[in-house]
Amino acid sequence: MLKNLANYYFPRSLDDAGSILSEKQTKNVIIAGGTAVSLLRDQTIDGLVDLKYLPLVFIKETVAGYSIGAMTTAQEVFQSSALSGPVGDLIRKAAGNIGSTLIRNSVTVGGNLVSVFPWSDLPPAFLALDAAVVSRHEKRNRTIPLMKLYSTHPRNILKHGEIVTEIKIPKASPNSATAFTKFSKTKNDYAIVDVAVRICLKNKKVFEAAIALSAISKLPMRARQLIA
Ligand SMILES: Cc1cc2nc3c(=O)[nH]c(=O)nc-3n(C[C@H](O)[C@H](O)[C@H](O)COP(=O)(O)OP(=O)(O)OC[C@H]3O[C@@H](n4cnc5c(N)ncnc54)[C@H](O)[C@@H]3O)c2cc1C
Repeated sequence: MLKNLANYYFPRSLDDAGSILSEKQTKNVIIAGGTAVSLLRDQTIDGLVDLKYLPLVFIKETVAGYSIGAMTTAQEVFQSSALSGPVGDLIRKAAGNIGSTLIRNSVTVGGNLVSVFPWSDLPPAFLALDAAVVSRHEKRNRTIPLMKLYSTHPRNILKHGEIVTEIKIPKASPNSATAFTKFSKTKNDYAIVDVAVRICLKNKKVFEAAIALSAISKLPMRARQLIA
């Protein structure tokens, strides 16, 4: 419970959100879907900055691949017809595995990626796809590959008040295939292990293979070694 919460902000631009988050006298934090923030027991938080009126809900196909806004919900991703092919299938499958419909209607892509719990289902999918987040801090944007974001907890990579605005997912090479499996006790339960896979064939041989796992470690990880 946030016992000392005094202010709830609805900024109308990213720069307004940035200024509220950078106030020095008060501690204001971002709220997206609120499913993790609502469970915080941090008595130092004075204010919540709700990103819901910012233009961060979108799923676009670009020349380079896909771009998904940070405030897009898991349910919107799961049901999106804009996501297709092996890359789109992997993302939709991971999103569809998040909790229940009720939870998916609240959980946002940005919140799932930033708050990253061992059971978070989107991070391994995006890791297998070599995705990167775009963030904004002090009126400047930067792109952070997921491999870097998860080299430690994202809270150590993102500065206080840095807003993740979108995730960019590159197109897969031709002859690619993907798969996503969540092992859990029941359909709505947290993952015991998530496995996301992308392979690409060239001349009938595996040219590239990316395997990402989560729930078996604190942070999602790419499998790097072949154990014979
Ligand atoms: C009952 C239940 C079951 C669940 N089951 C699953 C499951 O099976 N699989 C799964 O993956 N998840 C599941 N979740 C969701 C998961 O545990 C997190 O609660 C969720 O991913 C957080 O997303 P959110 O949008 O609600 O973020 P919030 O709670 O709003 O925010 C979480 C954190 O991220 C920060 N943040 C949010 N958005 C941004 C942004 N754009 N830029 C920078 N920082 C940001 C916030 O400041 C906060 O610190 C479940 C949650 C509940 C309550």
